[in-house]
Amino acid sequence: MKVVQCWDDGIHADIRLIEILRKHQATATFNLNASKHTAHRSFGRIYQDTEIWLLGLDELNDVYEGFTIANHSLTHPHLENIPVADARYEISENRKQLQDIFQQPIDGFAYPFGTYNDAVKDLLKEEGHVYGRTVKNALPILPPSEGPMAFHPTCKFNTPDFKKIFAQAKAAGDAFYFWGHSYEMVTEEMWQAFEDNIAFINEDPDTEWVEICDLFR
Ligand SMILES: [Zn+2]
Repeated sequence: MKVVQCWDDGIHADIRLIEILRKHQATATFNLNASKHTAHRSFGRIYQDTEIWLLGLDELNDVYEGFTIANHSLTHPHLENIPVADARYEISENRKQLQDIFQQPIDGFAYPFGTYNDAVKDLLKEEGHVYGRTVKNALPILPPSEGPMAFHPTCKFNTPDFKKIFAQAKAAGDAFYFWGHSYEMVTEEMWQAFEDNIAFINEDPDTEWVEICDLFR
């Protein structure tokens, strides 16, 4: 089974996350908003008594070295609630800026807040994206029931039934896709549980970490 994962918002906890991913040789995509990253690391907000910091432009390339970057819009708006021309700019300008920063093709998209409508889906396609990730859960995930521009992942990384859903995905189809935000891991237990799940996936000889875009190629 092909296994993919992605993480949103470009925050400092991605550094710890990536250490774990490198240790277990897992691929991943990171969905970023170029306008959120200033020259140096900057304070974002508090989540469950923990500070969230946005990574700085001076560290992005080092942090994400070897990983795939995808489009998450320029400023993280509800794209379906703004004029179509503005939504197009959010999508196309972020893609351009991320390509400039990372010098890699930016072909994937994750909807800010997971929300979209038909017009936004059309924009993604017109701007050359391979898929648009939602925040709904689906089984099986391929082929996407509403097309690649409404690509529903399998589950969140921290769902208590992670291992059970992994088994269901294996029985239902040929791909498993989990996602989340690294800032959601606010305790050592949560980090350990996450690493255990990665190790669990690697113990299955039938699994293979792949790039999300490769699911469509
Ligand atoms: Zn986001």
